[in-house]
Amino acid sequence: MTFDADVLVVGGGLVGQSLCAALEGLPLRAVQVESEAPRPADAPRWDERNFALARRSVQSLARWGVWPHAQSQAQPIDEVHVSSRGDFGAVRVRADDCGVDALGHTVPARAVGEALATRLAACRTVDRRAPQRLAALAFDDAGLTATLQDAEGPRALRVRLVVGADGTGSAVRDHAGIGTETRDYAQTAIVCTIGARGAPEGRAFERFTDSGPFALLPLGTGRLGMVWTVPAAEAEAVLALDDAAFLAAAQARFGRRAGTFERVGRRQPWPLRLTRALRVAGERVLLVGNAAQTIHPIGAQGFNLGLRDVEALAAMLAEGIAAGADLGDPARLAAHAAAREADRDATIRLSDGLARAFLPRALPLRLLRSAALSVLDRVPPLKRDLAWSLMGWRELAEAT
Ligand SMILES: Cc1cc2nc3c(=O)[nH]c(=O)nc-3n(C[C@H](O)[C@H](O)[C@H](O)COP(=O)(O)OP(=O)(O)OC[C@H]3O[C@@H](n4cnc5c(N)ncnc54)[C@H](O)[C@@H]3O)c2cc1C
Repeated sequence: MTFDADVLVVGGGLVGQSLCAALEGLPLRAVQVESEAPRPADAPRWDERNFALARRSVQSLARWGVWPHAQSQAQPIDEVHVSSRGDFGAVRVRADDCGVDALGHTVPARAVGEALATRLAACRTVDRRAPQRLAALAFDDAGLTATLQDAEGPRALRVRLVVGADGTGSAVRDHAGIGTETRDYAQTAIVCTIGARGAPEGRAFERFTDSGPFALLPLGTGRLGMVWTVPAAEAEAVLALDDAAFLAAAQARFGRRAGTFERVGRRQPWPLRLTRALRVAGERVLLVGNAAQTIHPIGAQGFNLGLRDVEALAAMLAEGIAAGADLGDPARLAAHAAAREADRDATIRLSDGLARAFLPRALPLRLLRSAALSVLDRVPPLKRDLAWSLMGWRELAEAT
């Protein structure tokens, strides 16, 4: 049986591209398809998000040769401050207390995309094709035949393994017959960059409010990346406010801990919904990133988790190559998925739980919540576990 490639990566979003960077240097034949044409360098800005990247994610991106291209636009996070509006407790996690120089970094999402594009321009391992999309998958005992579609028509590609990095509506997931569990949070994240007088440098804030969580990420020189979650029904009205009214409403909701809000850039809405694949391994198929789980942005976990998916998958493929194994062997894929499950499940439950735990509650529950925040701040082992999780090493939090 002959194969055109060992691995087909479907999707060239941030996770699919990170996988290509991670695969560089492995002795395998890989193809990547992305359905969208590359954006020209002078295309209008389409993504206003700023990402908080955990320390582990930054290390992975550095190892794959991506971080040097993003670093100049990144800001270290020295401290994370978690509080709840109307409750008395707060948790502060500081890099100093953990013996590290930064818990992670804040970087514009588009800077990550540009860094990946620069890095992959020099990639020789992966045959990257765009625009070209996966149209069908046919399974047989020895492998898979993917039908890839572009302007010239359909073409078949025979491979041992297909990786679905094709986002929330994953076609790979559908073709593999993997179902999903979904939850509509009925919330919209309003994302923008603001300027604030007196904003503390290096400090990230996560503030729970009774209408949804509110995050501010440090971008340096008095700028902050805002993710303000509002009930979906109110999103349009909040977006329609003029700049002064928007800043005043945001300030009233968040408070003054991050300085006085003075300027605001373009605002962009992101409707929020959980989509969780019921399993990440199928017949000669693995899912990574948003195709495997699209989660609430609270706690800034989605891309970080996608990068851990990539890290684990690249290691599994390297081991398989060294052992001379069939890279799509269902038993190996099942073992890989089982090994990933604890991190995946804990991360999904954390973001889902937080997204729902801080909605309006009766007084006794609010007191409990305040007490929990205070306890978390005062009990060193609990705080240390939280710090490890924030930095991306959940397994160390669980092991200590
Ligand atoms: C408001 C907000 C803030 C966030 N902040 C953070 C944060 O601070 N930190 C963090 O870690 N995460 C954050 N996230 C999560 C992060 O954005 C996602 O986890 C990440 O971008 C997922 O990337 P992906 O490549 O898996 O998916 P996508 O970006 O959806 O990419 C999928 C790609 O597949 C392509 N595709 C689809 N179908 C096909 C097909 N049939 N054939 C070929 N190609 C196909 C698509 O065109 C697309 O390019 C945030 C999310 C939101 C909404």
